[in-house]
Amino acid sequence: MATPADAPTYFRKGFGLKTEVQADLASDYDGRLVDFLRANDYELTAGDVTIKLAREFGFCYGVERAVEYAYQARRKFPDRRIFLVGEIIHNPHVNARLREMGIEILMPGAEGFDFSGVRADDVVIMPAFGVTIGDFEALRTIGCILVDTTCGSVLNVWKRVESYARDGFTALIHGKYYHEETRATASQVRKYPGGQYIVVRNMDEAKLVCGYIEGTVSAATILERFRDAVSPGFDPAQHLQRIGVANQTTMLARESLAIGEEVGATIARVRGDAARAADFRTFDTICSATQERQDAVTELLREPLDVMVVIGGFNSSNTISLAALCGERVPTYHIDSATGIDPDAKTVHFRRVGIHHEEADRAGWLPDGPVRVGITAGASTPNNKIGETVARILATRGVVANV
Ligand code: SF4
Repeated sequence: MATPADAPTYFRKGFGLKTEVQADLASDYDGRLVDFLRANDYELTAGDVTIKLAREFGFCYGVERAVEYAYQARRKFPDRRIFLVGEIIHNPHVNARLREMGIEILMPGAEGFDFSGVRADDVVIMPAFGVTIGDFEALRTIGCILVDTTCGSVLNVWKRVESYARDGFTALIHGKYYHEETRATASQVRKYPGGQYIVVRNMDEAKLVCGYIEGTVSAATILERFRDAVSPGFDPAQHLQRIGVANQTTMLARESLAIGEEVGATIARVRGDAARAADFRTFDTICSATQERQDAVTELLREPLDVMVVIGGFNSSNTISLAALCGERVPTYHIDSATGIDPDAKTVHFRRVGIHHEEADRAGWLPDGPVRVGITAGASTPNNKIGETVARILATRGVVANV
């Protein structure tokens, strides 16, 4: 069925079917055990295991909205092919559920996304992270129906980066250059001719940039180290003069703040306070949901805990940030789903904290005797998966819980 020529093809507020999809969303993602924990001051003791849940965890407003719009799109267009530009969020369970609903997830190849199979009568959903300007233009050219679920907090970062490019500042983005959100954010500099960006992953990389500003690191080193993380034509001599700092919304807030301060202080040290005032800008663009989850887990870590379990996709940036915070204080297991815990074998399959893409298995991970287990979950983890995790932890000690 073709879309009439005068019909709208771009939607970013859903289709007015919120009520119609609520029951499906609740049955796919709500969790009774989490409801129980919430109602009992975020604590549950069974046998010699005490579970402590962080007070902010799991699905954020942006994820709830994106997933709901995908469900609305399926209901609105039951007979059309529906594609997703990459994963809607970084949660394996949610993405699998969307696939079961007949939504095809396009994955990028070495050259980015291939939209050659998308037709004008198809529906394409853009994820909560947003898409690059190039991908957006390609989809508009096809003329398909676009369901844009880009989170408002991501749009705020885009506006900031766009303003840097407009005013002749290079956007220095604290993020992961390969992450969908950061790729989309960095592409915003293209809205202005000559717009430039550089993506730094952590303080170590920020210090390299600062080293260049101070004259202790060469341009060749910068270009080699950041070859995948700078805009085309990036010239350190020209493009590290005026810098505006922004960040991927899900990074460790504390580190983002420190990076902004370090870059500003370096400019002031090398070129004086007037240069800092004229040629440096910084704005904390961590989203409030990420901040609240990091604050809540920091609060939880003040209590005596033997182990932390952090639930979320292994490629979920905000989950990785939560695990990094926990790993500083207590043995921490970042699992991507409840099935990472095997109650019979008493093992856990987890991503090592702070080690890129390294997964491991551990037997006997739950200490013997009375044990206090802290739990949190990334912004893309639904409550039923958190509840299943709690049930498996209890089952490891022979306690059966009703999820
Ligand atoms: S983590 Fe923040 S920016 Fe990302 S979808 Fe959630 S609310 Fe939006």
